[in-house]
Amino acid sequence: METIACPECDLMQRIPELPPGAKACCARCGQTLATHSSDPIDRPLALSVAALFALIVANSAPLLGMSAVGRSASTTIIGGAYRMWLEGQELTALIVAFCAVLAPAGYILFLLTVLLAARRPPAPQWVGAMLRWADSMRPWSMLEVMLLGILVSLIKIAELATVEAGIGLYAVGVLVLLFPAIMANFDADEIWRRVRWADGEAPRPGPAAPAEDGTP
Ligand SMILES: [Zn+2]
Repeated sequence: METIACPECDLMQRIPELPPGAKACCARCGQTLATHSSDPIDRPLALSVAALFALIVANSAPLLGMSAVGRSASTTIIGGAYRMWLEGQELTALIVAFCAVLAPAGYILFLLTVLLAARRPPAPQWVGAMLRWADSMRPWSMLEVMLLGILVSLIKIAELATVEAGIGLYAVGVLVLLFPAIMANFDADEIWRRVRWADGEAPRPGPAAPAEDGTP
């Protein structure tokens, strides 16, 4: 049993030990208070590994190929940002590089590290710091915006040239699906329960979280 104040309406409530896959909602306003994912580590880990591969493909394979009057060209995300930089649009180039490459890469890498470290509790303290960094990267990982930009430029270019979707574009599509899936499966509370406390204590001793090696 633990006592939590509802983040929405401040009602204090006792949360019983939840069975896997269950969640506890506020008795007054229905806000989700606690969840117990049936697979808190391995499923988001698998999704994050998949997202890492998709991100590498999305950034190394050409997004779009074009051909017009016998000439052809293709571009990657970074190639596009670099060209914008050369054409004097430094700010746009930086925003594209940050939102489409650096922020998603940072988010996935922090998440992978956190999940790998938390597989065997107690996780070291720096996992907590990483979790905060991953959280601050998340709003900047704007893949949907990127996809929208690609579609707009596609429609514009399609009038002038023959445009073919590259492998990179499909990888971006996969990423757009994977990111919400990771966020739906990732349970930050579960990670926090596994992080070692500042005073060196193992995370939350007592009946709520029995040690995995069988010690009472
Ligand atoms: Zn409430």
